[in-house]
Amino acid sequence: MPGALSGILPRIPAMNETQIRSDVEPRLGDPDTGDHDRFAHYIIGRDPKAKITAAIVEGKPIRALCGKKWIPSRDPSRYPVCPECQEIKDRILSRRGH
Ligand SMILES: [Zn+2]
Repeated sequence: MPGALSGILPRIPAMNETQIRSDVEPRLGDPDTGDHDRFAHYIIGRDPKAKITAAIVEGKPIRALCGKKWIPSRDPSRYPVCPECQEIKDRILSRRGH
């Protein structure tokens, strides 16, 4: 595959949402936040990857498996997986009998 995506750099959304974002700079390694925004959530749907990509590019929140609306990070591996999403995903997978 030629690097079809290599030239695409998602626009960083302006921080003018209704929420006050001044306090949500990622503080990696801080286990004591208890903030859902610092989890990597799962989403479900026909094309989750496309949804996540669109959410990142547009800066719009999407609904996670656990019901939380959040804007996914471009690097979800830096965040712990949301335990609620994990549980729901496991349940779905086991029901599919995979
Ligand atoms: Zn979640």
